[in-house]
Amino acid sequence: MPVYEYQCESCDHRYSALVSIKDSEELPQCPRCGAEDVHKLVSSVSVVRSEAQKDGDRSKSLTQIDPKKPQEVAKYFRDHGSRFGEDDFRGTKEWHDAVDRVAEGGPTLDE
Ligand SMILES: [Zn+2]
Repeated sequence: MPVYEYQCESCDHRYSALVSIKDSEELPQCPRCGAEDVHKLVSSVSVVRSEAQKDGDRSKSLTQIDPKKPQEVAKYFRDHGSRFGEDDFRGTKEWHDAVDRVAEGGPTLDE
């Protein structure tokens, strides 16, 4: 399923959500304030780097990424990994390089 980006009209919170094709015109309510007054962003996940996004949204967003799509997972970590503390996220430079490559549609680590 495609990942769409949304922005809340009420609190400006940006978030992503996996939405099936048939539901793509339905807007998921804001996970922060619950407002239904949101709009879909044209931009892709890769350009969204909102500092306003709370860490509490991190795990929620991660579960919305399809693990079968390495590119989506890589994009997520590329965009959000910098906010992971050293204690729970110890990516090496090589690892980050690999993430960037996969996020751009390159081969995965298994290939
Ligand atoms: Zn909101």
